[in-house]
Amino acid sequence: MLKAKYYPKHNVMEAKLGSNASFLWRSFIWGKELLEKGVRWRVGDGRSIKVFGDPWVPGLENFKLSSRNGVDSDMFVANLMVERGVWNLSLLEQIFSEQEREAILKIPLIRTGRPDACIWNYCKNGRYEVKSGYWLAREEVREASLNHVFAPLHYWKHLWKLKVPPKMLHFLWRCSMGFIPCMEALQWKRITQTAQCFRCQQENESPVHATWSCAACVAVFERATFFSSLSSGQYPSFISFFDHAMKTVADEELQLLVILLWMNWHDRNKAYHQESTETSDRIFDNGVRLLAEWNNANIRNGTANRDSGATFTGDVES
Ligand SMILES: [Zn+2]
Repeated sequence: MLKAKYYPKHNVMEAKLGSNASFLWRSFIWGKELLEKGVRWRVGDGRSIKVFGDPWVPGLENFKLSSRNGVDSDMFVANLMVERGVWNLSLLEQIFSEQEREAILKIPLIRTGRPDACIWNYCKNGRYEVKSGYWLAREEVREASLNHVFAPLHYWKHLWKLKVPPKMLHFLWRCSMGFIPCMEALQWKRITQTAQCFRCQQENESPVHATWSCAACVAVFERATFFSSLSSGQYPSFISFFDHAMKTVADEELQLLVILLWMNWHDRNKAYHQESTETSDRIFDNGVRLLAEWNNANIRNGTANRDSGATFTGDVES
């Protein structure tokens, strides 16, 4: 766990950028700044949320309670409950003002004791709304843009078994780890000022945006049979996208998906270097052709072992 490794004592929202920040670390801090702008806790069992200083009470400024004399400043929200899912009313009365108490009592508790989770507040018409619940959860693997370093073991097991050219497996690994030089990575490295996608100019260019969700990529995938089963999802990271794909799409179709992801990235690089790019139809057709060549090469060699496809060049030629 990132926190356990880097933060034996402090919570992640208290982190500051040190002078020898590694790339991973810098990316992590970058995400932290992003998260701090809109993140708050959703109360579960209350064991991860500090009563004072953590954002957890809707209706209060910044969702926070300020500390007060005579009360343990390291107290956790769980300490405000008499049992799981039940507020300790007399304790609330002792510590908090009426307004604070009212705000706290509006927070729904559940007795089943799910862990606390960080959620993202989305400001619309001056009101905060819970837009999505996938953000940072303390002590847990993160599902946000920066968690790409961490994936469940089954993810890697499935990925390494895919029957695609080794260079494409390596590409998938790089996407998963956030090691492709998309605009987000370039901004982290301070090579560019912005992380915005230069093709659609709609969103930041993350690995999943650069290969899948950019409008330029969607145009390529629209003809694929697997498109409809993946297109409705919102994917905060490449891992969340590809994990879903591996669970949803049959292995034979996954081959084409991987090839098209790889080709989209190459086309994106051509656009980045202001070279002429392919039409989406052409990319799709090339992908289908490459897949057929790859499969034929493996059949000829009498095996489906991906390492046997020595005749496959993987070049994107017409
Ligand atoms: Zn884009």
